[in-house]
Amino acid sequence: MKHSWRDECGVFGIWNHEEAARLAYLGLYAMQHRGQESAGIVTLQNGSHHVHKGLGLVGDVFSEESLQQLEGHVAIGHVRYSTTGQNSITNAQPLTAQLFNGPVAVAHNGNIVNNEKLRQALKAQGSIFHGTNDTETVLHLLSRNPSNHLIPALKESVQKLDGAFSLVVLSHDKLVAIRDPYGFRPLVIGKKLNQDGGWSRVIASETCAFDLIGATYEREIAPGEIFWIDADGEHSEIFTKSQRTAFCVFEHVYFSRPDSVVFGKSVYDSRKKFGEQLAVETGVDADVVVPVPDSGMAAALGYSIKSGIPFELGIIRNHYVGRTFIQPQQSIRDFGVKIKLNPQSAILAGKRVIVIDDSLVRGTTSKKIINLIRAAGASEVHMRIACPPTTGPCYYGVDTPQKSQLIAAQQSVEQIRSFIGADTLGYLSIEGMFQALKESKNRFCAACFDGQYPTNLS
Ligand code: AMP
Repeated sequence: MKHSWRDECGVFGIWNHEEAARLAYLGLYAMQHRGQESAGIVTLQNGSHHVHKGLGLVGDVFSEESLQQLEGHVAIGHVRYSTTGQNSITNAQPLTAQLFNGPVAVAHNGNIVNNEKLRQALKAQGSIFHGTNDTETVLHLLSRNPSNHLIPALKESVQKLDGAFSLVVLSHDKLVAIRDPYGFRPLVIGKKLNQDGGWSRVIASETCAFDLIGATYEREIAPGEIFWIDADGEHSEIFTKSQRTAFCVFEHVYFSRPDSVVFGKSVYDSRKKFGEQLAVETGVDADVVVPVPDSGMAAALGYSIKSGIPFELGIIRNHYVGRTFIQPQQSIRDFGVKIKLNPQSAILAGKRVIVIDDSLVRGTTSKKIINLIRAAGASEVHMRIACPPTTGPCYYGVDTPQKSQLIAAQQSVEQIRSFIGADTLGYLSIEGMFQALKESKNRFCAACFDGQYPTNLS
Protein backbone atom coordinates (compact mmCIF):
# COMPACT_ATOMS: atom_id res chain seq x y z
CA MET A 1 0.00 0.00 0.00
CA LYS A 2 1.25 3.45 -0.83
CA HIS A 3 0.92 5.83 2.02
CA SER A 4 2.78 8.97 2.88
CA TRP A 5 2.45 8.94 6.60
CA ARG A 6 2.29 6.85 9.69
CA ASP A 7 2.21 8.37 13.08
CA GLU A 8 1.49 7.71 16.69
CA CYS A 9 -0.21 10.54 18.47
CA GLY A 10 -2.09 11.76 21.48
CA VAL A 11 -4.91 14.31 21.42
CA PHE A 12 -6.51 16.45 24.10
CA GLY A 13 -9.39 18.93 24.40
CA ILE A 14 -10.87 21.03 27.18
CA TRP A 15 -13.93 23.28 27.32
CA ASN A 16 -14.64 25.85 30.00
CA HIS A 17 -11.60 26.22 32.19
CA GLU A 18 -9.81 29.47 32.94
CA GLU A 19 -6.48 27.66 32.72
CA ALA A 20 -7.35 25.69 29.60
CA ALA A 21 -3.85 25.91 28.06
CA ARG A 22 -2.13 24.79 31.26
CA LEU A 23 -4.44 21.81 31.62
CA ALA A 24 -3.86 20.94 27.96
CA TYR A 25 -0.13 21.15 28.66
CA LEU A 26 -0.47 18.76 31.59
CA GLY A 27 -2.73 16.44 29.60
CA LEU A 28 -0.15 16.28 26.81
CA TYR A 29 2.59 15.78 29.37
CA ALA A 30 0.76 12.69 30.66
CA MET A 31 0.48 11.42 27.08
CA GLN A 32 4.06 12.12 26.05
CA HIS A 33 4.60 8.39 25.43
CA ARG A 34 2.17 8.68 22.47
CA GLY A 35 4.51 10.99 20.58
CA GLN A 36 7.80 12.75 21.22
CA GLU A 37 8.58 14.65 18.05
CA SER A 38 6.22 17.58 18.21
CA ALA A 39 3.66 19.14 20.50
CA GLY A 40 1.09 21.88 20.07
CA ILE A 41 -1.79 23.68 21.74
CA VAL A 42 -4.47 25.91 20.22
CA THR A 43 -6.74 27.97 22.45
CA LEU A 44 -9.97 29.81 21.69
CA GLN A 45 -10.56 33.37 22.85
CA ASN A 46 -13.38 35.61 21.60
CA GLY A 47 -13.76 33.65 18.37
CA SER A 48 -10.04 33.68 17.56
CA HIS A 49 -7.29 31.13 18.02
CA HIS A 50 -3.93 31.37 19.74
CA VAL A 51 -1.46 28.75 18.52
CA HIS A 52 1.82 27.48 19.87
CA LYS A 53 3.57 24.40 18.57
CA GLY A 54 7.06 23.14 18.07
CA LEU A 55 9.34 20.20 17.58
CA GLY A 56 10.39 18.28 20.66
CA LEU A 57 8.98 17.17 23.97
CA VAL A 58 6.04 18.92 25.64
CA GLY A 59 8.29 20.28 28.40
CA ASP A 60 10.66 21.79 25.82
CA VAL A 61 8.07 23.16 23.39
CA PHE A 62 6.15 25.18 25.99
CA SER A 63 7.49 27.79 28.40
CA GLU A 64 5.78 29.90 31.03
CA GLU A 65 5.71 32.70 28.47
CA SER A 66 4.14 30.65 25.67
CA LEU A 67 1.50 29.26 28.03
CA GLN A 68 0.62 32.79 29.15
CA GLN A 69 0.02 33.78 25.55
CA LEU A 70 -2.36 30.87 25.05
CA GLU A 71 -5.31 32.71 26.52
CA GLY A 72 -8.86 31.42 26.50
CA HIS A 73 -11.12 28.95 28.28
CA VAL A 74 -11.08 26.34 25.55
CA ALA A 75 -8.06 24.44 24.20
CA ILE A 76 -7.02 21.47 22.12
CA GLY A 77 -3.59 19.86 22.03
CA HIS A 78 -1.55 17.23 20.27
CA VAL A 79 1.66 15.22 20.63
CA ARG A 80 3.03 13.31 17.69
CA TYR A 81 5.73 10.95 16.59
CA SER A 82 6.27 10.36 12.89
CA THR A 83 8.32 7.65 11.30
CA THR A 84 9.06 8.73 7.77
CA GLY A 85 11.66 11.37 8.54
CA GLN A 86 9.21 14.17 7.84
CA ASN A 87 9.58 15.60 11.25
CA SER A 88 9.02 19.15 10.12
CA ILE A 89 7.20 21.94 11.87
CA THR A 90 4.71 22.08 8.96
CA ASN A 91 3.41 18.72 10.07
CA ALA A 92 3.21 19.61 13.78
CA GLN A 93 -0.37 19.63 15.02
CA PRO A 94 -2.97 20.94 15.73
CA LEU A 95 -3.19 22.03 12.09
CA THR A 96 -4.97 25.33 11.64
CA ALA A 97 -6.74 27.06 8.76
CA GLN A 98 -9.13 29.91 8.16
CA LEU A 99 -12.34 28.34 6.86
CA PHE A 100 -15.90 29.54 6.22
CA ASN A 101 -16.76 31.03 9.61
CA GLY A 102 -13.29 31.63 10.94
CA PRO A 103 -10.46 29.52 12.33
CA VAL A 104 -10.53 25.73 12.52
CA ALA A 105 -7.85 23.64 14.25
CA VAL A 106 -7.59 19.85 13.97
CA ALA A 107 -5.67 17.37 16.13
CA HIS A 108 -5.64 13.82 14.80
CA ASN A 109 -4.62 10.41 16.11
CA GLY A 110 -4.68 7.54 13.65
CA ASN A 111 -3.84 7.02 10.04
CA ILE A 112 -6.06 7.53 7.02
CA VAL A 113 -5.42 4.72 4.57
CA ASN A 114 -7.00 6.32 1.50
CA ASN A 115 -5.11 9.57 2.10
CA GLU A 116 -3.04 9.38 -1.09
CA LYS A 117 -6.13 8.95 -3.26
CA LEU A 118 -7.96 11.79 -1.52
CA ARG A 119 -4.91 14.04 -1.79
CA GLN A 120 -4.51 13.39 -5.51
CA ALA A 121 -8.19 14.16 -6.10
CA LEU A 122 -7.99 17.33 -4.00
CA LYS A 123 -4.82 18.47 -5.78
CA ALA A 124 -6.54 17.92 -9.12
CA GLN A 125 -9.24 20.31 -7.90
CA GLY A 126 -6.65 22.93 -7.01
CA SER A 127 -5.89 22.25 -3.35
CA ILE A 128 -2.43 23.30 -2.23
CA PHE A 129 -0.90 21.17 0.52
CA HIS A 130 1.66 22.57 2.92
CA GLY A 131 2.78 19.39 4.66
CA THR A 132 2.72 15.67 4.10
CA ASN A 133 0.39 14.56 6.82
CA ASP A 134 -3.08 13.14 6.39
CA THR A 135 -4.69 15.57 8.83
CA GLU A 136 -4.34 18.32 6.26
CA THR A 137 -6.64 16.30 4.02
CA VAL A 138 -9.39 16.74 6.61
CA LEU A 139 -8.99 20.53 6.46
CA HIS A 140 -9.15 20.50 2.66
CA LEU A 141 -12.26 18.33 2.64
CA LEU A 142 -13.84 20.74 5.12
CA SER A 143 -12.96 23.82 3.11
CA ARG A 144 -14.46 22.30 -0.05
CA ASN A 145 -17.68 21.27 1.66
CA PRO A 146 -20.67 23.31 0.45
CA SER A 147 -22.12 23.62 3.95
CA ASN A 148 -21.39 26.77 5.86
CA HIS A 149 -21.66 24.96 9.16
CA LEU A 150 -18.92 22.99 10.83
CA ILE A 151 -20.85 19.98 12.10
CA PRO A 152 -22.58 18.98 8.81
CA ALA A 153 -19.33 19.70 6.91
CA LEU A 154 -17.35 17.56 9.34
CA LYS A 155 -19.86 14.72 9.22
CA GLU A 156 -19.70 14.64 5.43
CA SER A 157 -15.94 15.07 5.24
CA VAL A 158 -15.03 12.28 7.62
CA GLN A 159 -17.31 9.85 5.78
CA LYS A 160 -14.81 10.08 2.91
CA LEU A 161 -11.97 8.86 5.11
CA ASP A 162 -10.99 5.19 5.35
CA GLY A 163 -8.94 4.07 8.29
CA ALA A 164 -8.31 5.37 11.75
CA PHE A 165 -9.18 8.79 13.07
CA SER A 166 -9.77 10.02 16.57
CA LEU A 167 -10.08 13.76 16.00
CA VAL A 168 -10.41 16.78 18.22
CA VAL A 169 -11.48 19.91 16.36
CA LEU A 170 -11.73 23.51 17.53
CA SER A 171 -13.59 26.21 15.60
CA HIS A 172 -14.48 29.81 16.48
CA ASP A 173 -17.28 28.56 18.73
CA LYS A 174 -17.19 24.76 19.09
CA LEU A 175 -15.08 21.94 20.50
CA VAL A 176 -15.69 18.69 18.61
CA ALA A 177 -14.56 15.08 19.14
CA ILE A 178 -14.98 12.45 16.42
CA ARG A 179 -14.03 8.79 16.26
CA ASP A 180 -14.00 6.60 13.16
CA PRO A 181 -16.69 3.91 12.97
CA TYR A 182 -14.20 1.14 13.76
CA GLY A 183 -12.88 2.92 16.83
CA PHE A 184 -9.29 1.91 16.03
CA ARG A 185 -7.68 4.48 18.30
CA PRO A 186 -8.98 5.37 21.75
CA LEU A 187 -10.78 8.62 22.56
CA VAL A 188 -12.29 9.27 25.97
CA ILE A 189 -14.41 11.92 27.57
CA GLY A 190 -14.49 13.10 31.15
CA LYS A 191 -15.24 16.10 33.31
CA LYS A 192 -13.51 18.21 35.87
CA LEU A 193 -15.11 20.06 38.75
CA ASN A 194 -13.94 23.68 38.77
CA GLN A 195 -13.26 25.82 41.83
CA ASP A 196 -16.35 27.95 41.11
CA GLY A 197 -18.55 24.82 41.24
CA GLY A 198 -18.93 24.66 37.44
CA TRP A 199 -17.68 21.85 35.20
CA SER A 200 -15.09 21.58 32.49
CA ARG A 201 -15.49 19.02 29.73
CA VAL A 202 -12.32 17.12 28.83
CA ILE A 203 -11.41 14.84 25.95
CA ALA A 204 -8.23 12.80 25.62
CA SER A 205 -6.64 9.82 23.93
CA GLU A 206 -6.01 8.20 27.30
CA THR A 207 -7.46 8.42 30.79
CA CYS A 208 -3.99 8.96 32.32
CA ALA A 209 -4.37 12.57 31.09
CA PHE A 210 -7.52 12.92 33.21
CA ASP A 211 -5.77 11.54 36.30
CA LEU A 212 -3.09 14.21 36.15
CA ILE A 213 -5.52 17.13 35.84
CA GLY A 214 -7.99 15.79 38.41
CA ALA A 215 -10.74 14.99 35.90
CA THR A 216 -13.09 12.01 36.07
CA TYR A 217 -13.41 9.53 33.23
CA GLU A 218 -16.98 9.15 32.01
CA ARG A 219 -16.99 7.12 28.83
CA GLU A 220 -15.43 6.55 25.42
CA ILE A 221 -16.47 8.59 22.43
CA ALA A 222 -18.29 5.76 20.63
CA PRO A 223 -17.07 4.46 17.26
CA GLY A 224 -18.86 6.56 14.64
CA GLU A 225 -19.82 9.28 17.16
CA ILE A 226 -19.47 13.02 16.75
CA PHE A 227 -19.65 14.92 20.04
CA TRP A 228 -19.55 18.68 20.30
CA ILE A 229 -19.89 21.51 22.78
CA ASP A 230 -20.87 25.08 22.05
CA ALA A 231 -22.76 27.90 23.73
CA ASP A 232 -25.96 25.81 23.48
CA GLY A 233 -24.47 22.95 25.48
CA GLU A 234 -23.42 19.42 24.59
CA HIS A 235 -24.53 17.39 21.58
CA SER A 236 -23.85 13.91 20.32
CA GLU A 237 -24.77 12.02 17.17
CA ILE A 238 -23.78 8.79 15.54
CA PHE A 239 -22.67 10.05 12.10
CA THR A 240 -22.23 6.59 10.66
CA LYS A 241 -23.32 3.24 11.93
CA SER A 242 -20.44 0.98 12.83
CA GLN A 243 -20.67 -2.44 11.13
CA ARG A 244 -18.02 -3.83 13.45
CA THR A 245 -15.51 -2.33 15.84
CA ALA A 246 -11.76 -2.76 15.37
CA PHE A 247 -10.18 -1.59 18.61
CA CYS A 248 -6.40 -1.73 18.32
CA VAL A 249 -5.20 -4.60 20.50
CA PHE A 250 -1.66 -3.19 20.37
CA GLU A 251 -2.82 -0.30 22.58
CA HIS A 252 -3.16 -2.95 25.32
CA VAL A 253 0.02 -4.79 24.36
CA TYR A 254 2.38 -1.83 24.23
CA PHE A 255 1.22 1.57 23.22
CA SER A 256 -1.02 2.91 25.99
CA ARG A 257 0.17 3.67 29.48
CA PRO A 258 -0.58 0.86 31.95
CA ASP A 259 -2.44 3.29 34.22
CA SER A 260 -4.97 4.10 31.48
CA VAL A 261 -8.38 2.59 30.89
CA VAL A 262 -8.54 1.89 27.15
CA PHE A 263 -11.62 0.51 25.37
CA GLY A 264 -13.17 0.26 28.84
CA LYS A 265 -10.38 -1.94 30.25
CA SER A 266 -7.40 -1.37 32.51
CA VAL A 267 -4.24 -1.68 30.42
CA TYR A 268 -2.24 -2.83 33.43
CA ASP A 269 -4.72 -5.59 34.07
CA SER A 270 -4.61 -6.72 30.43
CA ARG A 271 -0.81 -6.89 30.44
CA LYS A 272 -0.73 -8.83 33.69
CA LYS A 273 -3.25 -11.30 32.28
CA PHE A 274 -1.23 -11.61 29.05
CA GLY A 275 1.69 -12.61 31.29
CA GLU A 276 -0.41 -15.17 33.18
CA GLN A 277 -1.63 -16.70 29.95
CA LEU A 278 1.92 -16.70 28.58
CA ALA A 279 3.02 -18.73 31.61
CA VAL A 280 0.24 -21.24 30.93
CA GLU A 281 1.14 -21.52 27.25
CA THR A 282 4.94 -21.39 27.37
CA GLY A 283 5.96 -22.54 30.87
CA VAL A 284 9.60 -23.54 31.40
CA ASP A 285 11.60 -24.55 34.47
CA ALA A 286 13.67 -21.57 35.64
CA ASP A 287 14.92 -19.68 38.71
CA VAL A 288 13.81 -16.15 38.05
CA VAL A 289 11.37 -14.07 35.95
CA VAL A 290 12.85 -10.77 34.77
CA PRO A 291 10.99 -8.03 32.89
CA VAL A 292 12.46 -5.87 30.16
CA PRO A 293 11.75 -2.52 31.78
CA ASP A 294 9.34 -0.87 31.46
CA SER A 295 7.52 -2.54 28.58
CA GLY A 296 7.56 -6.09 30.01
CA MET A 297 6.85 -5.17 33.64
CA ALA A 298 3.17 -6.03 34.07
CA ALA A 299 3.37 -9.16 31.91
CA ALA A 300 6.38 -10.44 33.90
CA LEU A 301 4.48 -9.92 37.12
CA GLY A 302 1.57 -11.98 35.76
CA TYR A 303 3.96 -14.65 34.51
CA SER A 304 5.67 -14.87 37.89
CA ILE A 305 2.41 -15.09 39.83
CA LYS A 306 1.03 -17.80 37.56
CA SER A 307 4.25 -19.84 37.37
CA GLY A 308 5.31 -19.39 40.99
CA ILE A 309 8.82 -18.43 39.78
CA PRO A 310 10.16 -15.37 41.65
CA PHE A 311 9.99 -11.96 39.97
CA GLU A 312 13.20 -9.92 40.09
CA LEU A 313 14.21 -6.61 38.59
CA GLY A 314 17.24 -8.17 36.97
CA ILE A 315 17.58 -5.37 34.42
CA ILE A 316 17.68 -1.77 35.56
CA ARG A 317 16.65 0.99 33.22
CA ASN A 318 18.19 4.41 32.94
CA HIS A 319 15.10 6.60 32.74
CA TYR A 320 16.92 9.55 31.25
CA VAL A 321 17.33 7.95 27.85
CA GLY A 322 14.55 8.27 25.26
CA ARG A 323 12.84 5.23 23.79
CA THR A 324 15.43 3.38 21.71
CA PHE A 325 12.83 2.62 19.09
CA ILE A 326 12.57 6.23 18.01
CA GLN A 327 16.17 6.44 16.84
CA PRO A 328 16.15 6.34 13.05
CA GLN A 329 19.43 4.53 12.43
CA GLN A 330 19.94 0.85 13.17
CA SER A 331 23.42 1.52 14.58
CA ILE A 332 22.12 4.13 17.00
CA ARG A 333 19.29 1.85 18.05
CA ASP A 334 21.74 -0.91 18.98
CA PHE A 335 23.79 1.50 21.01
CA GLY A 336 20.63 2.79 22.65
CA VAL A 337 19.82 -0.55 24.25
CA LYS A 338 23.18 -0.57 26.02
CA ILE A 339 22.88 2.90 27.43
CA LYS A 340 19.32 2.26 28.53
CA LEU A 341 19.36 -1.17 30.16
CA ASN A 342 21.81 -2.57 32.70
CA PRO A 343 21.48 -6.23 33.76
CA GLN A 344 22.46 -6.90 37.37
CA SER A 345 24.85 -9.81 37.74
CA ALA A 346 24.04 -10.06 41.48
CA ILE A 347 20.60 -11.32 40.43
CA LEU A 348 21.38 -13.08 37.15
CA ALA A 349 24.72 -14.89 37.66
CA GLY A 350 24.35 -18.66 37.55
CA LYS A 351 20.53 -18.39 37.13
CA ARG A 352 18.11 -19.83 34.63
CA VAL A 353 16.36 -16.62 33.55
CA ILE A 354 12.96 -16.10 31.94
CA VAL A 355 13.06 -12.65 30.36
CA ILE A 356 9.78 -11.07 29.38
CA ASP A 357 8.99 -8.29 26.92
CA ASP A 358 5.66 -7.03 25.62
CA SER A 359 6.53 -7.47 21.95
CA LEU A 360 9.30 -8.33 19.53
CA VAL A 361 9.38 -6.32 16.33
CA ARG A 362 12.74 -6.41 14.56
CA GLY A 363 14.39 -8.57 17.21
CA THR A 364 17.20 -6.08 17.71
CA THR A 365 16.26 -5.21 21.28
CA SER A 366 15.86 -8.83 22.41
CA LYS A 367 19.17 -9.85 20.83
CA LYS A 368 21.03 -7.12 22.68
CA ILE A 369 19.28 -7.79 25.97
CA ILE A 370 19.97 -11.51 25.83
CA ASN A 371 23.63 -10.81 25.12
CA LEU A 372 23.80 -8.54 28.13
CA ILE A 373 22.02 -11.07 30.38
CA ARG A 374 24.46 -13.79 29.36
CA ALA A 375 27.37 -11.44 29.95
CA ALA A 376 25.96 -10.90 33.46
CA GLY A 377 26.41 -14.64 34.07
CA ALA A 378 22.97 -16.21 33.45
CA SER A 379 23.20 -19.95 32.80
CA GLU A 380 20.07 -20.09 30.61
CA VAL A 381 17.96 -17.38 28.96
CA HIS A 382 14.36 -18.10 28.02
CA MET A 383 12.73 -15.26 26.07
CA ARG A 384 8.96 -14.88 26.43
CA ILE A 385 6.91 -12.37 24.45
CA ALA A 386 3.53 -11.25 25.83
CA CYS A 387 1.86 -11.02 22.42
CA PRO A 388 1.79 -13.11 19.22
CA PRO A 389 4.50 -12.81 16.52
CA THR A 390 4.28 -9.38 14.84
CA THR A 391 3.84 -10.30 11.19
CA GLY A 392 2.09 -7.28 9.64
CA PRO A 393 2.73 -3.54 9.52
CA CYS A 394 0.09 -1.28 11.04
CA TYR A 395 -1.69 1.07 8.63
CA TYR A 396 -3.88 2.58 11.33
CA GLY A 397 -1.46 4.68 13.36
CA VAL A 398 1.01 2.48 15.25
CA ASP A 399 4.56 2.74 14.07
CA THR A 400 5.58 -0.73 12.97
CA PRO A 401 8.24 -1.11 10.29
CA GLN A 402 7.60 -2.56 6.84
CA LYS A 403 7.01 -6.27 6.54
CA SER A 404 10.56 -6.83 5.33
CA GLN A 405 11.85 -5.60 8.71
CA LEU A 406 9.40 -7.55 10.85
CA ILE A 407 11.45 -10.55 11.84
CA ALA A 408 8.39 -12.76 12.48
CA ALA A 409 7.14 -12.04 8.94
CA GLN A 410 10.40 -13.40 7.52
CA GLN A 411 11.51 -16.13 9.92
CA SER A 412 10.14 -19.06 11.94
CA VAL A 413 10.07 -18.95 15.74
CA GLU A 414 13.07 -21.31 15.77
CA GLN A 415 15.00 -19.01 13.40
CA ILE A 416 14.15 -15.99 15.56
CA ARG A 417 15.27 -17.89 18.68
CA SER A 418 18.57 -18.58 17.05
CA PHE A 419 18.93 -14.96 15.83
CA ILE A 420 18.29 -13.44 19.27
CA GLY A 421 20.45 -16.08 20.95
CA ALA A 422 17.89 -17.41 23.46
CA ASP A 423 17.80 -20.99 24.79
CA THR A 424 14.06 -21.03 24.17
CA LEU A 425 11.57 -18.51 22.75
CA GLY A 426 7.82 -18.47 23.34
CA TYR A 427 5.04 -16.13 22.22
CA LEU A 428 1.49 -15.67 23.47
CA SER A 429 -1.05 -17.17 21.05
CA ILE A 430 -3.72 -14.98 19.41
CA GLU A 431 -6.45 -17.09 21.04
CA GLY A 432 -4.68 -16.79 24.39
CA MET A 433 -4.44 -13.02 24.02
CA PHE A 434 -8.20 -12.65 23.56
CA GLN A 435 -8.91 -15.22 26.24
CA ALA A 436 -6.84 -13.12 28.63
CA LEU A 437 -8.71 -9.98 27.55
CA LYS A 438 -12.04 -11.82 27.89
CA GLU A 439 -12.97 -10.31 24.54
CA SER A 440 -14.07 -11.60 21.19
CA LYS A 441 -11.40 -11.13 18.53
CA ASN A 442 -13.83 -9.72 16.00
CA ARG A 443 -14.34 -6.56 18.09
CA PHE A 444 -10.60 -5.80 17.77
CA CYS A 445 -8.02 -5.13 15.09
CA ALA A 446 -5.15 -7.59 15.46
CA ALA A 447 -3.86 -7.15 11.89
CA CYS A 448 -0.27 -6.83 13.10
CA PHE A 449 -0.60 -10.42 14.35
CA ASP A 450 -3.05 -12.09 11.96
CA GLY A 451 -2.87 -9.98 8.77
CA GLN A 452 -6.64 -9.41 8.78
CA TYR A 453 -6.94 -5.70 8.01
CA PRO A 454 -10.48 -4.55 8.78
CA THR A 455 -10.63 -1.91 5.98
CA ASN A 456 -9.53 -1.57 2.38
CA LEU A 457 -5.91 -0.53 2.23
CA SER A 458 -6.27 1.37 -1.06
P1 AMP B 1 12.73 -4.62 18.29
O1 AMP B 1 14.17 -4.40 18.58
O2 AMP B 1 12.34 -3.97 16.99
O3 AMP B 1 12.31 -6.07 18.36
O4 AMP B 1 11.94 -3.83 19.40
C1 AMP B 1 11.09 -4.40 20.31
C2 AMP B 1 10.89 -3.43 21.45
O5 AMP B 1 10.30 -2.23 20.96
C3 AMP B 1 9.99 -3.99 22.53
O6 AMP B 1 10.68 -3.82 23.76
C4 AMP B 1 8.76 -3.13 22.52
O7 AMP B 1 8.42 -2.76 23.82
C5 AMP B 1 9.15 -1.91 21.71
N1 AMP B 1 8.10 -1.53 20.73
C6 AMP B 1 7.23 -2.32 20.10
N2 AMP B 1 6.43 -1.61 19.27
C7 AMP B 1 6.82 -0.33 19.38
C8 AMP B 1 6.38 0.90 18.78
N3 AMP B 1 5.37 0.93 17.91
N4 AMP B 1 7.01 2.04 19.13
C9 AMP B 1 8.03 2.01 20.00
N5 AMP B 1 8.48 0.89 20.60
C10 AMP B 1 7.89 -0.27 20.30
